[in-house]
Amino acid sequence: MYQIIDGKEISTQIKNECRDRVAAYKEQGVDICLAVIQVGNDPASSVYVNNKKKACEYIGIQSLSYELPEETTEEELLAIIDKLNADDAVNGILVQLPVPKHIDEDKIIRAISPLKDVDGFHTQNVGALCIGQKGYVSCTPAGVIELLKRSNISIEGKECVVIGRSNIVGKPMSILMLRENATVTIAHSRTKDLKEVCKRADILIVAIGKPEMITAEYVKEGAVVIDVGIHRKEGKKLCGDVLFDDVAPHCSAITPVPGGVGPMTIAMLMKNCVDSVEIRK
Ligand code: NDP
Repeated sequence: MYQIIDGKEISTQIKNECRDRVAAYKEQGVDICLAVIQVGNDPASSVYVNNKKKACEYIGIQSLSYELPEETTEEELLAIIDKLNADDAVNGILVQLPVPKHIDEDKIIRAISPLKDVDGFHTQNVGALCIGQKGYVSCTPAGVIELLKRSNISIEGKECVVIGRSNIVGKPMSILMLRENATVTIAHSRTKDLKEVCKRADILIVAIGKPEMITAEYVKEGAVVIDVGIHRKEGKKLCGDVLFDDVAPHCSAITPVPGGVGPMTIAMLMKNCVDSVEIRK
């Protein structure tokens, strides 16, 4: 029988811990504020932004909301970021991605002060992660580590295969697993014999963005499978990158979609906001 890793419950634990920490800071007269900027009104982005605001409210973090029109220029956006960088009352700045095509995403990420980059996307924070220094860690991969640890799944010495090498999931994920002393392989679209590579994994982390691509043929008997993917199927049902019903009977533990990695991303964003008090010192 396999264990279903409950991301909903674990994310609630983390949010409650954050709420306690925020209350303790408030008693010391320290308030935490997150600025959330959305350019345009992409419906998926609006859902994410609203969920982030709701989480802030639950935890006791003040959220400053900037809902900018689609035609906002890069200069206008950079000017808002500059203002927020200089504002001592603002702990974290989050620009909801993707931004419209006429705005250079990399330039926007670089413009956010690394001390307020609660998404963990700034090159300075990515560099800090690589060399084991303090800084913000990208929320989704940080959430996967929490899922494993809080489900009592040991990482040290394990063979881990991460499928995907994006800057926000695959790469930071593999560095975090390395930091936990796993033996890490990163697979991607040019990997030869992907099935054979994946079958080596004690822990298989899937972040490919292809609905239900990973079947039982990719999975070693007894492996732990973490599905980062999220897709909306016809009929609005959600699914991941893993074909759950096919894979689950071969696993010792697996994350479902929804209710696995998804809820962890916002919980870890909240944790980064609370950690900002120490990081900014
Ligand atoms: P990207 O599209 O940026 O990266 C996908 C990666 O998968 C690339 O490195 C690509 O390889 C690799 N890949 C694509 N096809 C294959 C294949 N057939 N075989 C092997 N590797 C392949 O996606 P993200 O990393 O941003 O996201 C991955 C998934 O996670 C998506 O479903 C996304 O929606 C989800 N996601 C979920 C989050 C959450 O909160 N739960 C947060 C962020 C993402 P190459 O580099 O060679 O092109």
